[in-house]
Amino acid sequence: IKSPAMTITENKVAVICRVRPALNSSPHSPDSITVASQTTINVANHRDPTKQIQYSFDACYGSKATQEEIYSSQVSELVQSVFDGHSATVFCYGVTGAGKTFTIQGNDSHLGIIPRALNQILKKKNSSKGLFEVKMSYYEVFKENIYDLLREVDCGPGLPIREDSNRKTYVAGLREELLSSFDQFKKSYSVAVKRRRTASTKLNTNSSRSHAVLVIKLAMSSASNSAVIYGQLNLIDLAGSEDNRKTDNNRERMKESTAINQSLFVLGKVIEALNSGAKRIPYRDSKMTRILQNSLGGESKSMMIVNIAPEESFLPETHKTLNYATKTK
Ligand code: ADP
Ligand code: MG
Repeated sequence: IKSPAMTITENKVAVICRVRPALNSSPHSPDSITVASQTTINVANHRDPTKQIQYSFDACYGSKATQEEIYSSQVSELVQSVFDGHSATVFCYGVTGAGKTFTIQGNDSHLGIIPRALNQILKKKNSSKGLFEVKMSYYEVFKENIYDLLREVDCGPGLPIREDSNRKTYVAGLREELLSSFDQFKKSYSVAVKRRRTASTKLNTNSSRSHAVLVIKLAMSSASNSAVIYGQLNLIDLAGSEDNRKTDNNRERMKESTAINQSLFVLGKVIEALNSGAKRIPYRDSKMTRILQNSLGGESKSMMIVNIAPEESFLPETHKTLNYATKTK
């Protein structure tokens, strides 16, 4: 199967699916998920294994798809649109272990979307003759509280959301770091990633239960024209979508799960409303959609990557994930 073409259109949120390879340590029945075409996957019905259920997306990637393939076929054009003064957002959605962090961040030998996007942006900066300012902020949303990952995280109530005079929402007090090189980005980002882990210890939780939001803001002008245009890229590693309310008897954990499921539910509703052309978009119903209000819809371009695991043990959650995702299309 050839790599699907870029699927982004204005106003809409493209929904694409990525199946990760089976991990060695777990038993895997090879036929539980197959990519049937560029836009469809077949998944074994966990209640009746002789049957399969088909789900369709704007694009589907099987376990052999590389980081490079996903970036060049789906993301680089989206980053390109930021150079033209648009906002763009990529979300990774799925249960813990399905490959969200691998996809959005990757590791040293398999660079994910974040380092590739920064490389593309900072290369563009180097070749630009006019103004080209790149600012990064990075925060996590945990139980509807916002914590800055570019500073030491305390356990307080987090940062407030405010509206500026143009009624645009922003996180008050968030640190913004001016980026001049890829090395500088790498250093700051890796400190922040570690901080996300220590923060989760301090907050007595697991980092898979928070949303991590990387925001890159660009201010650009050409050498011949001093008018400044602004672009923004949001790259988001969502909290694991699994519902722990049934399995966990701890009261704090129950509250966490309720908050996580509520915010993912609202995100799904926002995407669904945008994709169906609804008049009322329920941005205000969660912190993350409120902050992202100006980057979702309008002339912005967005994409949700739905990560799924091929192992049989994941099947019930996989169907839940795919049902959530197909509803938003
Ligand atoms: P999540 O962030 O959704 O909890 P991870 O990204 O941590 O999941 O992935 C779980 C494990 O699977 C990690 O060890 C990761 O390296 C591996 N993995 C995920 N996706 C892929 C992939 N496409 N190719 C190879 N390994 C992957
Ligand atoms: Mg993760």
